[in-house]
Amino acid sequence: MTENAVVQLTRRRTLTAAVLESRPLALEEGEEGAVTTADRLTRRRVLAAGLAAGAAVGLGRDTAALRTPFERADGASWTSPADEVRFLAAVARSAAAVSVEVIGSSVTGAPLRLARLGASTGPGLLVLAAQHGNEPAGREAALQLVRDLAFTTDPVLRRQLRAQRVMVVPTANPDGVAAWTRGNAHDADLNRDHLNLREPETRALATVLRAERPDVVVDLHEYAPVVPVLYDDELLSLWPRNRNVDRGVHRLARLLCQDYLTAGARTAGFSADVYGQHKAGGRVTAEVGGSADEGMCRNTAGLHHRVSVVAETPLHPRIGEPGYQPFPRRRRVAVHRQVLDDCLRFLREQTAAIERSSRDAAAAAQRPQPIAFAGSDIDVPARNEIADPPPWGYRLTAEQAATVAGALSLHGIRSLPSADGSVTVPLAQPARALIGLLLDARGDRNAVAGEPLADHA
Ligand SMILES: [Zn+2]
Repeated sequence: MTENAVVQLTRRRTLTAAVLESRPLALEEGEEGAVTTADRLTRRRVLAAGLAAGAAVGLGRDTAALRTPFERADGASWTSPADEVRFLAAVARSAAAVSVEVIGSSVTGAPLRLARLGASTGPGLLVLAAQHGNEPAGREAALQLVRDLAFTTDPVLRRQLRAQRVMVVPTANPDGVAAWTRGNAHDADLNRDHLNLREPETRALATVLRAERPDVVVDLHEYAPVVPVLYDDELLSLWPRNRNVDRGVHRLARLLCQDYLTAGARTAGFSADVYGQHKAGGRVTAEVGGSADEGMCRNTAGLHHRVSVVAETPLHPRIGEPGYQPFPRRRRVAVHRQVLDDCLRFLREQTAAIERSSRDAAAAAQRPQPIAFAGSDIDVPARNEIADPPPWGYRLTAEQAATVAGALSLHGIRSLPSADGSVTVPLAQPARALIGLLLDARGDRNAVAGEPLADHA
């Protein structure tokens, strides 16, 4: 063991002792209202107390570094990009269970970082935050998750981390975070680019999705309540709405939203519901929101047979509304942190069903299935919106092939080259529907208009 490793181990033990010796604290939400008395949150507070008490037990400034700048500021300011680097480095230095790597860079060259925890193989959860740079709460919760898991003393979580992987990209859009903009430095909306992969940030995320094959993907966002208010819950979540997502994967993503995220948030004392449902008297009267856009992460990842969801907290207060209440920052972060706990619980409890659904979906994609080019899972498809029977595949000219070569490769899509430079892309592969959406003239986000082939010519 190196001297440095001994120092790290000693730090970890001291920190663990600090955590164990701390007593549960009263919640500190103050004017923001009590969050919950649930055990999970109490445990988290105990950890925070242990970290806060660190100076008194000899942990010095390293312990201070293990609280996010947002926590240290009591929510008065968000963690800056530079502080995020220091925070992740401090956590990784203090906990051997965490590693941080650069997975790509933004338009301006800012690195995208991935923090890994848990086993090196096995079922995996991928957490994405801050695809939209001006929606900060999920990013704070993601940073807290890395630290909380690194030092967890919870036997259930420790057992989970021995068998399963957790991957966290706290800042998917570093330029947007630095500039406080929704888009990246090209002013592109990254969460519409997951099919075409034109931006360096989405290409980096696609590489992670393909190489790591996470079983569950959660994408953290914030939404602006509109006036008149259709929904203003503290948590809205949604599964892939794209009609081409495999039914088994779709069912599990719905289960995650309804039985884990919504139910979990309510149990913890937050208001929560499905994104885009209008309700009256407790009954759903219309489902209006939640796009089936295949460029959105939850839809694209769903088309890759990952159980994927989006989780949103309210960004702005409804200023001027009767009964107006602001949505406090710490509470928004606490909601996202709760979401992440519930995603971990879902992965833990539904492991076998998740793995089976992904395997079955990939196998089913080898067989012909209609491809829907429009509408969502709650629409009745129009005849002209569906390719039924589907083509065998698509022929691309050399020029078209060059246009989409990068996206095909990043999505793991196989193509067959010809001597004249044209290629054919058969649909009988795991990304079947995604291929049609990318290469067919009828797709809303198609990159090229390939020639549909009735059979393997
Ligand atoms: Zn967003």
